[in-house]
Amino acid sequence: MNEMQWDLSQLVESTDKAYIINRLEEMVAEAGAMREQYKGKIGSLDAPGLYALLEAQDSFSLKYEGVAMYCNLLYSADTTNPEAQHLNDAMRRAGTRAGQQLAFMEIEMGELLAARPELVRAPELAEYHHLLERIQRRAPHQLAEREEQLVMSKDQNGIDAWSQLQEDWLSTRTFKITIDGEEKVLPYGQIIGLYEDPRREVRREANSIVYRDLGKDEIMWASALRSICADHIQMCEWRKYPSVLTQSLISNDVEEEAILALMRTVENNVEVYRRYLRVKARLMNLPRLGNWDLIAPLPNDPGKKYTWSEARSSVVEAYTRFDEEFGQHADDMYGQRRIDAEVRKGKVSGAFCASWLAGQSAFVLQSFNGLVGDVYTQAHELGHAIHACLGSRAQRPSNYEIGSCIAECGSTFGELLLTEHLLSNSASNAEKQAVLCKVLDEFGMAAFQVSARYFFEQSIYGAIKAGKFLDGETLSSLWTAARDRIYGDAVEWLPEMKWEWTMKLHYYIPNYRFYNYPYVFAQLFVFAMYRLYREQGEAFVPKVKALLSAGSSRSPGQLARELGFDITTEEFWQKGIRQAEEFITQLEKIQ
Ligand SMILES: [Zn+2]
Repeated sequence: MNEMQWDLSQLVESTDKAYIINRLEEMVAEAGAMREQYKGKIGSLDAPGLYALLEAQDSFSLKYEGVAMYCNLLYSADTTNPEAQHLNDAMRRAGTRAGQQLAFMEIEMGELLAARPELVRAPELAEYHHLLERIQRRAPHQLAEREEQLVMSKDQNGIDAWSQLQEDWLSTRTFKITIDGEEKVLPYGQIIGLYEDPRREVRREANSIVYRDLGKDEIMWASALRSICADHIQMCEWRKYPSVLTQSLISNDVEEEAILALMRTVENNVEVYRRYLRVKARLMNLPRLGNWDLIAPLPNDPGKKYTWSEARSSVVEAYTRFDEEFGQHADDMYGQRRIDAEVRKGKVSGAFCASWLAGQSAFVLQSFNGLVGDVYTQAHELGHAIHACLGSRAQRPSNYEIGSCIAECGSTFGELLLTEHLLSNSASNAEKQAVLCKVLDEFGMAAFQVSARYFFEQSIYGAIKAGKFLDGETLSSLWTAARDRIYGDAVEWLPEMKWEWTMKLHYYIPNYRFYNYPYVFAQLFVFAMYRLYREQGEAFVPKVKALLSAGSSRSPGQLARELGFDITTEEFWQKGIRQAEEFITQLEKIQ
């Protein structure tokens, strides 16, 4: 084992396969015992009884968290290892069986709180107050147990199948591209890497080939998206959701007012993003960016490489400069061997951080190639890990079910701390420009480009309700209209980019409508937080800690109020925009 590999043996008492399988069986049996004890009886619980149930749920999840993570992470580290495949499969099957045993709990608790709403405020249940509020908010939209089962089967053979088809299609497709006179056949996962190639014509060609090919199957994509969105409208009726946004608002624990203020702020500030795109065009010696230049490196990017230990010290120093404890948590992740960064065949692509609440820590996976982007990924994932360290020390598991709006706070904040560190250690202007463009490219994508996806999704539901038939061309015209609301004429688009909506797998994932605005939320929220940190300095550190320690025990709106802000106002979101403007000004000043 080398220091770029994680040590998963910490998660379990024994890594013996028979022991693991046995633990999984014990988990299913214990779920069965909880069902015996509580099924049909939750409606008659008083406050102490409900407390005991919630506590039992929490200790159940802590007890089996390690073994489930072990199976899952072993598999992520090497998907070709037969033992890992077997254990991961056994874990998933055991998880489904345990989940089925315990599914009645949410329904019965919802019924209990509907009948006795005063329990939500019972002093004995103070610790679970917001958890109960969330159950209460979901309860009116729940169907009967039998109907919920029918919905699951409908989704399994409907929307799940569309999602699987989309994923399989993308992962089995190959694309022919000629680079330097040599013809290559690349899978989707590889050709999209060329979008960041330093050679402009290669980027253009890669974009053109991918979207031309995606457009050829427009009938399939349009059919999928039309059905998925029509299904959502139908489900909103069944579940009595007042708006197409409601389901996502509930799961993200936010109010519609806040999201509308957020999206208005984005739309009112498109000029800020366009200003950056013009600066970037100038730095690339272009009259205007093509869509294939949006995430391209600058021509003078020195392409600095980092060793593993340089990356570690940059990331740890960036966090330590903000706060000793943050730095310590980050450093422990390396010292305790909780990061798997080695590049290996069979390892899953991308990067993630899995919280390990029982160990008050986390595990991080990435493939480290030494590029500045890899150092950013490391800072990002360790931000999640710090979030998990703080949150798990302060909260029980059921108060650590963090919605997407808050989940990216620690990670994105960490990227900004790394930016600060890299800028102050840059040897040249070219290096500084590369760092600022990296931050602003990501900001532009998350805050603005993703907003176009939100506008697009809204327009689909509008069109369906107006009785329009959504064929491929109609969807494409909705897509380009949403895109142009953000980009105006600041970017030149290849005509085949009208098919861009086809590849976004989130649109095809079941029960995941409006996956988009939480990214915008998180980006502007963190930029606003960072702005406050710049203004208030050290005094702001405990506020960030309090936010990351809160888990899901308070809503994002409440957490912002504790920072002194109201997320239902545009004024708050504007603070995030101002921080982006500051970065743009910094970039403009470098000659
Ligand atoms: Zn993340």
